Amino acid sequence: MSEEKELRERAAGCLLGLAVGDALGAPFEFYGKVTDLPQEFKSYNDLPAGSFTDDTQMSIATAESILACGKLDPDDLAKRFAEMMPDIRGIGKITYCVLRKIREGHSWKHATEAAHLELGGKSAGNGAIMRIAPIAIAYWNDIPALSRAAESAAGVIHHDKLSHDAAAAVAQLIALLLSGATFIEQALAAVEVMFLEKAPQVARALREGATARENELSPQTCFVLDSLTCVVWSLLEGKDYMERVHAAIRIGGDTDTHGAITGAVSGASTGVNDIPANWREVERASDILRLADKLVDFSLSRSAV
Ligand SMILES: [Mg+2]
Repeated sequence: MSEEKELRERAAGCLLGLAVGDALGAPFEFYGKVTDLPQEFKSYNDLPAGSFTDDTQMSIATAESILACGKLDPDDLAKRFAEMMPDIRGIGKITYCVLRKIREGHSWKHATEAAHLELGGKSAGNGAIMRIAPIAIAYWNDIPALSRAAESAAGVIHHDKLSHDAAAAVAQLIALLLSGATFIEQALAAVEVMFLEKAPQVARALREGATARENELSPQTCFVLDSLTCVVWSLLEGKDYMERVHAAIRIGGDTDTHGAITGAVSGASTGVNDIPANWREVERASDILRLADKLVDFSLSRSAV
């Protein structure tokens, strides 16, 4: 198989893997530990089985924004998020607070800062890492641009720099895997080293995920570093897509977001064919695969300039 074909299969695995992990985890969100792990999609909140949530909705919007603007434009991204707000499924507290202010006419810069203060300085949510996959596909071959775009996209909702750094770390992890150079364990170790000085708390969260026992995880907080630790633990707990996403759901808490991020990273590593065939029938699967392909086109056209 050509290198480009392999890249396209991994990018497809990443974006579809995100949607699948999200849709599998959604019915179990905040129900506690999950013993009956899903082999197929289940319906929830009156939505048909296979429906995804805000994680995938906002990732699709991010992909469409990059493709429409020819770059990651935070103004356009904020506008798209604000417009889709009434339709966002399972919107988080920070995102709700920021998007409400933008819809009232405030700039996203003002809205994020005001929301940060309103929420007692707690704006380091895991939303920043749940919608980072399209950015990793668009900029996988340009590390400085990838970091800038990831931090910028996180900043549209999250004022706390921890979320920006964690977003850059997850984007970097996915980019390394898309490049096909390495396995998940090695990519995690490489990203940890990259962030040791730049963002030591992020590096520590990565390390904790690689060494923690299951009962030491905090899957219910939605704090970005707790989620990062849960995702790393889940990635290392399983040997293929299904086992990793099941691990992310099994621990309970924010099961859709942890399923989504774990699924995106695992898919970037092993490609779309590692996702069980019946799971590949997730909502809007063909649109998601088309977007993944267009993001690869975008990344290759940038590098050709
Ligand atoms: Mg969600």
